[in-house]
Parts: sequence; C-alpha cells; structure tokens
Amino acid sequence: MESSKNIPYGKQSISESDIQAVIEVLRSDFLTQGPIVPAFENAVAEYCHVRHGVATTNATAALHLACLALGLGPGDWLWTSPITFVATANSALYCGALVDFVDIDSRTYNICKEALEEKLLIAKQEGKLPKILIPVHMCGQPCDMKAIHELSLQFGFKIIEDASHAIGAKYLEEPVGNCHFSDITVFSFHPVKIITTGEGGMALTNNKEIANKLRYLRSHGITTNQDEMETYSNNEIWNYQQIHLGFNYRMTEMQAALGLSQLKKINEFIRIRTQIAKFYDASFLPININTPWQTEDANSSFHLYPIQLNSLSGISQKALYEKLNASGIKVNLHYIPIYRQPFYKKLGFIEGYCPNAENYFKSSISLPLYASMDEEQQYRVVKEVKKHCLSKSTETLMAKAI
Ligand SMILES: *Cc1c(COP(=O)(O)O)cnc(C)c1O
Repeated sequence: MESSKNIPYGKQSISESDIQAVIEVLRSDFLTQGPIVPAFENAVAEYCHVRHGVATTNATAALHLACLALGLGPGDWLWTSPITFVATANSALYCGALVDFVDIDSRTYNICKEALEEKLLIAKQEGKLPKILIPVHMCGQPCDMKAIHELSLQFGFKIIEDASHAIGAKYLEEPVGNCHFSDITVFSFHPVKIITTGEGGMALTNNKEIANKLRYLRSHGITTNQDEMETYSNNEIWNYQQIHLGFNYRMTEMQAALGLSQLKKINEFIRIRTQIAKFYDASFLPININTPWQTEDANSSFHLYPIQLNSLSGISQKALYEKLNASGIKVNLHYIPIYRQPFYKKLGFIEGYCPNAENYFKSSISLPLYASMDEEQQYRVVKEVKKHCLSKSTETLMAKAI
C-alpha cells in the first residue's frame, strides 16, 4: 500500500497538539488582533536571539514590508541571488525599484561573495550601487554573512536576509534570524518550510524604529500611538491616524497558534531533517552525483536536498526528473534562475547572465525531504535514484576513502 503512494518533495508535520492549539483559538474571543500573534512573535524572536518579530500573512509580504521599511523606492537598486523563489526579487518591483542579480557560488548555491565584490566595484564607478542586498540562505545553509556585512559597510547598502528556508539553521553557532549581520531577516511558514502556519511569515530586526515601521505598514499605515499623531481640536476624537500608505498584511490568531505549537518542535524537525540528509549523503556516496556541500561555519536546516548530475552520472537531468516523478517520487526544481522567467526576460535580462546559476538549474533536482518522512520512503528515494545513476569506479571510491 504505502510504497505505491506519492512522496512529495516537502510536506508539513501536523500533530494532535497543533490541531488542539488552533481549535482553542477558534473558541476564544479573538480570531485576529488578539494575544496569540504577539506571543508567537516573541517566541520566535526569543528563539532567534533577536529583539523584534513582526508576523505577516506570508514571507512575500514580509519581504515587501522589509524593503519599504528600509526606504526602497523608485530609482533604487536591489540585488539578490538568481537562485531563489521569485518573491525575493518581486519585493523590489513592488516598491518601484530596480532589480539585478549576483551569480551564485557553485558549491554552496548561495550568492558568491567574489562575484558580489566585483559587481559592487563596477557599480560604484557607474554610480549604481544597490540600496539593498537580499542574500538567500539557499536550502537552509546560511550565506557567508560576515563577508557580506563587511561589504555592506564598505559600499553602504542595507541587508535583508531571506531566511525562508533557514529558521532553525545556525551560523557561527548562533541562530539564523539574530540579525547580527543584517538589518532585517525574513522567515516563511508555508507548509513546505521548516515550521508552518499554513500561510505566514515574519520579519525580524534588532532596530526598534524599523520594527515600528514594519508594524504600521503591516496594518494600513495606521498608528494608535499618540506621540506619532498630528494633533487636532480637543473636541475631536483621534484614537487612530493613518500616517503612511500601508497594507493589510496581518497574520490571524489561528495561524499564530499553529506557529507557536510548531515552534515547540522545531529542534526535533531539524534533527530529523539533518538525519535524512546524512542518510542521503552516505547512500549516494557510491554513485556519480554531487550531493550538497556544507560549510564549516554553519549548520543547515536542510529545507532542501538538491542533487546535481554530472558528466559521469549516466542520465540526463530531464530523464531522471521524469523517471522519479513517474515512480511517485515527486521531485522538484529549486530554482529556475529568476531572470529567465518570461516576466523578467521582458525587463531585458538574457540567457546566460549568471553562468553558475544556469549550470545549477540545468543539473539539479531537489529530492523529497521533510520531518514526517518515514524510513521506507527514504529507502524508496535512495533506491530509485541509485537505479538510474552510474556507480563511481573503484579507484574514485578508494580516493574518497583516503
Ligand atoms: C517560500 C519562499 C518565499 C515566499 O514565502 P511565502 O511565505 O510563500 O510568501 C520567499 N523566498 C524564498 C527563498 C522562499 O523559499
């Protein structure tokens, strides 16, 4: 029975206590703007060793608010990685800003710091430096934030970490989200991510002013703080004022209750994800594919596990993708370089713009990996991948062992 079922590339893990937490809210006084959203924000902030958390409808909204809170507007440049979900780049376009892409490092799949530095030097000469850079912690592996932060000081740009994949990951022994090397960090709580609220996201910051901006922009640009209001005649009642053009990007109490309950299990989720990644690493050692390379200064949250095919794999990416999907192993691609999308092509980007990103796109496949994956499912994935890929020669294996 089980073996005939499809295995998705990612999936939520929902327990009875998650369900009870949501039901409790449904029976309470508030479905929105109650006590649970602030409780969830505080719990995530505490987990990440950061001062402020601002929960939103999703990470896309959090990225949009983050750009606005850092003053991004028409004529400004925002740079990011081409290997990310389209929402990362779209957030700049929402603000009327311009987008450009920095190629990835072909080992980490994260933004390449050498390519970044080179591009910054040219942009400086041309007077086109970015206002904001969004590094993306691809697959859950943190970027080289120390180097990126140093470049931000040298070239004067702001940093938003797109950590949609990376809640629970660590960088230099500290939780991702602490904003030690950035202005704002954004998480996603979509069901395929590490913990879920259905739809949901959060922006984190250590800066009180930025947190305040994120909060009023999340709720129509309205403030209820008397100190921020203009004063009018004493006979009029002004208990709220719209002072900016904001949005309704608020998270509901039901979502926050699910998030709070999920957060209790995050370390267990990461432990299981890491274990599955290690199992894949060891299982694929004898065959000719590239498995994700891990940096020494970080602990990935293993949101994704992309394998890369090479000239010795004995099968094309397309053929393996089709064979795995046909066998019920619903693999996926993360990601098509954003600038190759028809919408971005119309903005003038051309094929081949970021060679490492294109090479990654044309050779990688994300295998199923999620906390509720059982052993049988893991074995099925391994068996099916190994069935189609060529083994390494004995000499290569011996060299690896040494
Ligand atoms: C999922 C994801 C987003 C968008 O998250 P939503 O919560 O679905 O809006 C943005 N960036 C990256 C890298 C993602 O993986």
